[in-house]
Amino acid sequence: MKIHEFQAKQVLARFGVPVPDGIACDTADEAAAAFTQLGAPLSVVKAQIHAGGRGKAGGVKLVRSADEARDAAAGMLGKTLVTHQTGPEGRVVQKIYVERGSEIDRELYLAVAVDRATSAPVLMGSAEGGMEIEELAEERPEAILRERIHPMKGLLPFQLRRMAKHLGLSGDTAKKGMALIQKLAVAFTEMDCSIAEINPLIVTKQGDVLALDAKINFDSNALFRHKDVIEYRDLNEEDPKEVEASKFDLNYIALDGNIGCMVNGAGLAMATMDVIQLKGGSPANFLDVGGGANKEQVTNAFKILLSDPNCRGVLVNIFGGIMKCDTIAEGVIAAAKEVDLQVPLVVRLEGTNVQRGRQLLEESDVKLETAASLDEAAEKIVALVKAAGA
Ligand code: GDP
Ligand code: MN
Repeated sequence: MKIHEFQAKQVLARFGVPVPDGIACDTADEAAAAFTQLGAPLSVVKAQIHAGGRGKAGGVKLVRSADEARDAAAGMLGKTLVTHQTGPEGRVVQKIYVERGSEIDRELYLAVAVDRATSAPVLMGSAEGGMEIEELAEERPEAILRERIHPMKGLLPFQLRRMAKHLGLSGDTAKKGMALIQKLAVAFTEMDCSIAEINPLIVTKQGDVLALDAKINFDSNALFRHKDVIEYRDLNEEDPKEVEASKFDLNYIALDGNIGCMVNGAGLAMATMDVIQLKGGSPANFLDVGGGANKEQVTNAFKILLSDPNCRGVLVNIFGGIMKCDTIAEGVIAAAKEVDLQVPLVVRLEGTNVQRGRQLLEESDVKLETAASLDEAAEKIVALVKAAGA
């Protein structure tokens, strides 16, 4: 789960990571009032969207008066911000953060993420912050120092010193930096984050260290431990189809292809997407209806698939283990009728009572094709969607 920058800064501040003062706003007038309340000669008006790269796209503006703050906020609110992280469709700005401006001496990069190779959190730092870290990682990976974080012991003092040195921190600033790094690592672990990134971490002209930007993603499977984090969820930032799916306990992720997939089990869903691709098609989504897919689940899943205007055909690939194939077939038939299915449908069932299930499908008056294997099913749906001119 993703949250906004201002929320991520609240989380980091709870753990003692220094962040600038700021006020979240919904209107331009609130932004003007926030400037006055902060009482600083310089403030920063920042668009709050679940994506970075705002600076280059006009979503971060330095302002020197309440009027300038109002104008900057008015120029962002309600507008679509397109950054290198939003994709071409961009994101509509609905919230603004007004923050006390900082005098930047240096911009650094600092993050904790999960390293799948070592199965542990990893601290990453670079003296070259502010810029696109993906580019840096590609072009000069040696500029990023990585320190594996021991799952039980956490970051050790020598690792903190090594990172401070790599970041070019010395004296009192290094002490402050090491304290900040330690707090970031603790926040990452205690809050069950999947990433906690500060880009840039700045050194101010006064020699202080400060998180000027913050990005936190949480491990959704651990959210039950963090009721306060669930409060941060902003449905405006999520794909409406994914929000709808989560209401029915369906694991749905929208993609940009045109073949809707309804599958049970995440592994089977991945395999189905791969085989569609292999046959020259392109999946419109990942959808795992779960092991106990019933008629209601299947109907809701159909509705969500078909609410995607790009979806030109549906492939149902379900293994009847806990659920028997005949029950699934009944569900598919009822659901297809209820949603008045207009696009080609291919169904592949396998498992318990498969003969009875196929028979039900073939005898039904729903327009669909059946397939005995995943290969055949994928070939059929790809051909049908192509024939329909999509
Ligand atoms: P992002 O582009 O979405 O990652 O947004 P950031 O919060 O990282 O801001 C982008 C850039 O704006 C930073 O790298 C800074 O150069 C600049 N910036 C942000 N806040 C301040 C500030 O308080 N003072 C100054 N001088 N620059 C700032
Ligand atoms: Mn940033």
